Amino acid sequence: MKIPETGRVREEIFEALGRYKKNDMDWQSGRAFGYIFDPGKEILSFAKEVYNLFLSENALDFTVYPSLLQIENELVSMMRKHLQGDQEVVGNFTSGGTESILLAVKAARDYFRMKRPDITTPEMVVPTTAHAAFHKAAHYFGIKTVTVSVDSKTFTADPDRMAAHITDNTIFMAGSAPSYTQGVIDPIAALARTAQKHGIWFHTDACMGGFLLPYFKRLGREIPAFDFSLEGVSSISMDLHKYAYAPKGASMILYRNPELRACQMFAFTRWLGYTMINPTVQSTKSGGPMAAAWAVLNYVGDRQYLVFAEKQLFAVEAIKKGIASIPELYLLAEPEMTLLSFGSESVNIFHIIDEMNLKGWYIQPSLSFDGVPANIHLSVTLSNVAHTDRFVADLKQSVADAKKLPSGELLPIVRQIMEKEGEAILDDPLPLFALVGIQGGRMPKRMASVNEVLDALPPLWREKILLQVTNAFFHPEN
Ligand SMILES: *Cc1c(COP(=O)(O)O)cnc(C)c1O
Repeated sequence: MKIPETGRVREEIFEALGRYKKNDMDWQSGRAFGYIFDPGKEILSFAKEVYNLFLSENALDFTVYPSLLQIENELVSMMRKHLQGDQEVVGNFTSGGTESILLAVKAARDYFRMKRPDITTPEMVVPTTAHAAFHKAAHYFGIKTVTVSVDSKTFTADPDRMAAHITDNTIFMAGSAPSYTQGVIDPIAALARTAQKHGIWFHTDACMGGFLLPYFKRLGREIPAFDFSLEGVSSISMDLHKYAYAPKGASMILYRNPELRACQMFAFTRWLGYTMINPTVQSTKSGGPMAAAWAVLNYVGDRQYLVFAEKQLFAVEAIKKGIASIPELYLLAEPEMTLLSFGSESVNIFHIIDEMNLKGWYIQPSLSFDGVPANIHLSVTLSNVAHTDRFVADLKQSVADAKKLPSGELLPIVRQIMEKEGEAILDDPLPLFALVGIQGGRMPKRMASVNEVLDALPPLWREKILLQVTNAFFHPEN
């Protein structure tokens, strides 16, 4: 493909993009239980209007766009109050939970470089439920991760077990409120106390719950403290593009005080260009996401968010009841907010996912790890609220249909290939791709065999193979 010699007409471009979209998940169907946080037409169209208003403004330089500095500071002010922070609490607007976590880890690394120069090989201790973004941060910033099994019944981090993995090199520990994986809240108070006792940084990952949990608490749910009311909490990540329903590219990273946050920033003048000061990862940065997030918070308001919370709570209850009514399924843990995971001992869950997919639902597979079998994740949001009965009925049917499908047929062949080729297969995994139906840069319609094979491989092998597949997918043909 080349840049067209002369520009194409608008209609033609819209038509082409419309065609490109036809295999995308329909996020307006109310049938997506992941990736999508849709506040509905009215709020969304307002958010788009504001986004457009600031689309071209550049948050690279707050001296040129004081409006964006004001918007960002007001967002921090609202969110620190939401999370019981005092006036010492500072923070920044970021592009997402991952960036917020990257920044917290980077800040912690640089803080300990300054305070504890004797630590040359820093380590972080996280539970197996901690978001993959912590491992990404460790990978980017040269920190060793120590992953600790969670309690096998509650799926929450075990403070004693976590403490047992703290060494002289540990600088950072994290817990989630709630975890993405099972939607349960780690014992943040105990974890933060442990961290404080050892003089290490503690981060609460409240990407999911930072915004919503305070509302759940007001609805009478028992929500343990996870925020700045706990002395040992150094930083908190909370996403606005999740349960605050801001358009994508909206998260906050908050710190207990300016001294900790200072280690997040980057300034540079040793070049021939402009004076560069970047509080966050991005440099040139559209004002659209932060203006839209600010506008959505102001537009929806506290009372309406409480109504949203209640609707979501009822939806989760309905789904929980529905899952309990299907004997082949079980919940991994009792969800404390709006995220849950369920599995099956008798039916191949990857087939259930495919069957649901054929009916227009998006539900998400989690591969087996650390003794926990593969399972299905749901993030329940506003757009799902009106569709829970249909969901449960379709799930029942999908379980029945999945039962009839063959399972595990490829596994002996995979085992054979693994034995014959050993790790050499990782350098050239084409035979494995072909086996599961990945060919010519295209995924098969049914993903069960892909997931089943991945699930059977050791995690490090999975990762190597996924990188190879992705390398092939992001590769234009001509
Ligand atoms: C979504 C999420 C993240 C990562 O956020 P992105 O916005 O996808 O980058 C991190 N932690 C938790 C608990 C999350 O739910």
